[in-house]
Amino acid sequence: MNLNEFRNETRAWIQNNLPKEISGRPDGFSGGNKGGTQSSDHKRWFDACYERGFTVPSWPKEYGGAGLDNSEERILREEMTAAGAPEPLGGMGVTMIGPTLLEYGTEDQRQRHLSKIASGEIRWCQGYSEPNAGSDLASLQTRAVDEGDHYLVNGSKIWTSGANFADWIFCLVRTEPDAPKHEGISFVLFSMDDPGVSVKPIVLIAGNSPFCQCFFDDVKVAKNDLIGQENRGWTVAKRLLQHERSMISGFSSAGAGAGTKSTGVSGIAKTALKYYGEKDGRIGDIEGRSEVTQLNIDSRAFSLTARRAAQESSGGTPTFVTSMFKYYATELGKRRMESLMAMRGADALGWEGKSFDTNALGDTRQWLMGKAGTIAGGSSEVQLNIIAKRVLGLPD
Ligand SMILES: Cc1cc2nc3c(=O)[nH]c(=O)nc-3n(C[C@H](O)[C@H](O)[C@H](O)COP(=O)(O)OP(=O)(O)OC[C@H]3O[C@@H](n4cnc5c(N)ncnc54)[C@H](O)[C@@H]3O)c2cc1C
Repeated sequence: MNLNEFRNETRAWIQNNLPKEISGRPDGFSGGNKGGTQSSDHKRWFDACYERGFTVPSWPKEYGGAGLDNSEERILREEMTAAGAPEPLGGMGVTMIGPTLLEYGTEDQRQRHLSKIASGEIRWCQGYSEPNAGSDLASLQTRAVDEGDHYLVNGSKIWTSGANFADWIFCLVRTEPDAPKHEGISFVLFSMDDPGVSVKPIVLIAGNSPFCQCFFDDVKVAKNDLIGQENRGWTVAKRLLQHERSMISGFSSAGAGAGTKSTGVSGIAKTALKYYGEKDGRIGDIEGRSEVTQLNIDSRAFSLTARRAAQESSGGTPTFVTSMFKYYATELGKRRMESLMAMRGADALGWEGKSFDTNALGDTRQWLMGKAGTIAGGSSEVQLNIIAKRVLGLPD
């Protein structure tokens, strides 16, 4: 089937299967059932996508995917976006550990874990950061001691997003304390329901708890859930980070999402018209107009660059270049939200109360999330270091 036929067929399939009620209503389903249930319409849409392999479109069919190539996947994403179709399944299973297992997992590990991700049965969380290991991740101290047929894990992870809703964790542990720090790390998987795992949500000033601290107290981890070789987990960990950065920038999904995830500008133009007034059908204030125009240009240029890079990579594994996309997407997203706050003037920074409308309250939260985006998955400074060393080849 050529790409035009694929587009037409996909468009018709979406029309026939997307319940009208949920068009334009994102779901945020990340798998598992600890985070609440889906609406019946969202579930119907999920089931249809799952049956077609569209919850993980680029994965091989034997693991629940549709085996789409890069161009087909981009077309599918574009058609879903155009129809207002919610992403059927998100989360760290689909975007991070799944692709890593496809590359580094044994056949047994893929069989056991990938189809449960595709079917939405299992939700995953990421056990990387520790109280004394963030940017300098390789300083992590959570220990795994070899006990013959299993490891015994002790330690603590922090900022573990969604750990209170997760079923399984992918976790970095130190298996060789005397080796140079990058060479004594292993990458393991275990269930969050295993004895010895406890999770403490960290309540933020906003009252919600997207982050947790996790404690591991003599947790038994089966040896068949060691990914890659013992003490060689850093290589696996870095690849997973490339998938994470690719997802954060919207560069994953074959580049179709780039420039839309955190950098969209249409809402800003509307707000600018409201606060700066309209003159001859344009934003009245000259400086405001040029700021919105510049954001628009940067956003479009980024989107096109990401798409070109995705096409050139033809579905290959991500590389250090993902740091460039992660850096630019999140810094642009932050700039966008700062512009929005500035144009709202006295109406900005509303947190609660009737004097602020829903959009203003949502924008304040987005403004703060924009800052968080430049930290999650490795801060902007860390991305610049990687770009300098690994992309530009500058000396350490
Ligand atoms: C929204 C969000 C979600 C997250 N989810 C998870 C998760 O699910 N699992 C998980 O394991 N972690 C998660 N994290 C943690 C995240 O990975 C860390 O916050 C991040 O790696 C930075 O580490 P840190 O917070 O310890 O800051 P630090 O490492 O203490 O850094 C503090 C400051 O120093 C700068 N800095 C540090 N080293 C250098 C250097 N060499 N050169 C230049 N500047 C430097 C940093 O850029 C930063 O500005 C999440 C974070 C956020 C914001």
